[in-house]
Amino acid sequence: MSEPLNLQQIRDFKGTYPKQLFYLFGTEMWERFCFYGLRGMLVVFMATELMMPEKQANLQYGAIQAFVYAFTFLGGVFADKILGFQKSLFWGALLMIVGGFVIAAAPKELFYIGICFNIIGTGFFKPNISTMVGQLYHEGDARRDAGFGLFYMGINVGAFLGGLLMVWVGKSYSWRAAFALVGVVMIISLINFAWRRRTFGPIGLSPLHPDLPAAKRKMYEWGTYIGSLAVVPLILLMVTNTAYTDLFMYIVGPLTLVYLAWEMRTFSRAENLKLGAALIFIFFSIFFWAFFEQSGGSLSLFALNNLHPSLFGFPVDTNSVNNAANSLFVIAFSAVVGLVWLWLSKRGKEPNSVVKFGLGFLFLGAGFYIFKSTLGYADENGVTSTEVFTFAWFVITFGELCLSPIGLSLMTKLSPLRIQGLMMGMWFLASAYGQYAAGLLGAGMSAEDPGASNYEKLVLYTDGYGELGLYALIAGGALILIAPLVRRMMQEVR
Ligand code: GLN
Repeated sequence: MSEPLNLQQIRDFKGTYPKQLFYLFGTEMWERFCFYGLRGMLVVFMATELMMPEKQANLQYGAIQAFVYAFTFLGGVFADKILGFQKSLFWGALLMIVGGFVIAAAPKELFYIGICFNIIGTGFFKPNISTMVGQLYHEGDARRDAGFGLFYMGINVGAFLGGLLMVWVGKSYSWRAAFALVGVVMIISLINFAWRRRTFGPIGLSPLHPDLPAAKRKMYEWGTYIGSLAVVPLILLMVTNTAYTDLFMYIVGPLTLVYLAWEMRTFSRAENLKLGAALIFIFFSIFFWAFFEQSGGSLSLFALNNLHPSLFGFPVDTNSVNNAANSLFVIAFSAVVGLVWLWLSKRGKEPNSVVKFGLGFLFLGAGFYIFKSTLGYADENGVTSTEVFTFAWFVITFGELCLSPIGLSLMTKLSPLRIQGLMMGMWFLASAYGQYAAGLLGAGMSAEDPGASNYEKLVLYTDGYGELGLYALIAGGALILIAPLVRRMMQEVR
């Protein structure tokens, strides 16, 4: 076998994308297949198999999603300090495999235990694979954003297929098979990575000092593995009591900020200014996800009750449209958007990342105004146009593409190497808050009166979407206004 490449050789790749990006693409694609597959199954499984009332199922769903993203913070920290990204990926994948098979063994009885394995597993996996993408590039390489764009497409290929397939297997074939599929697919993801592992050279190896005695190194590593298993009962307790989720969310964010401040004391002023800029991006992303994640909540109900079951004359399931349209648009346009940035950059006209974020919010706002406009197309039963609804997703997707892959890329550009995992974890922690807030916003928009007509519900939702649209436009404007300041904080990072 040929010698593994060194960092310089990896980063000196020719062409638009490094070959390792395609391996990470495949690995992450299968992980997201499971994540979005599970996401699509959770509420349905809880409502129809665990016989949970809908309100509780929604809360439970929000709690699980918030925990999944919140644990990425810890996964990032342990990768930075002890495991390195590669071992974190292995360990995360292994936990997810166990999680899938545990639930498959007895779906009703072992559901929550399996979910806990998935929460911890995703925590170790998700932030660290994203950080590895960033490490394929030299500082200042203009191709980095295009790379994240392609990686983001992989995420959505997985999201699309998993979202479509798994709930269908569960509903029409067997829930056991659907949960077992998580285990099987994560095995594929893991093999895909293990097979190509050597091509990553030193990227993602243990951050522990090379002089550290082997016994100590093993102790730290095994301590992490055993510790992460030991917290399963605690997570179980918190996930099954959604009141604890609130408490958890109040505590975890401030704690991470304190921890970051502690880390920041050892960095130079220039590095800390960049971290400050990263925090501004993270802060705004909470709002983005809080609005965007209406998709799994209020927009699902909107799709269920208020959309005409046809698209351009073809009969459709309106919930499938709501679940899949966004992923399909990302698949179709993410590489294009990445290449547009590259094209602009070659001409010195690429907008900086703060402005891209601002644009992301403007697209989001425009999309929500389009959701609002569906009221004008409604009949007296409150049933409105699926075409207009889908068009809103089309517009929002461009917002997502201006913000989400760029945010991943930024975290890798703005963080010192030693805390890249932590910062990526914080980026996803913002998604945890977004998910959490999305549930609260959705609940606030829904009708109090259980006997409300479809038309009344439509009026309430479209009013709410109009408000969200306005807030998104304000956030976009604010970002564009503060762009010069944030740009200065970012220094040479674009
Ligand atoms: N859709 C993206 C993913 O699944 C972004 C998720 C997020 O950050 N909330 O990776």
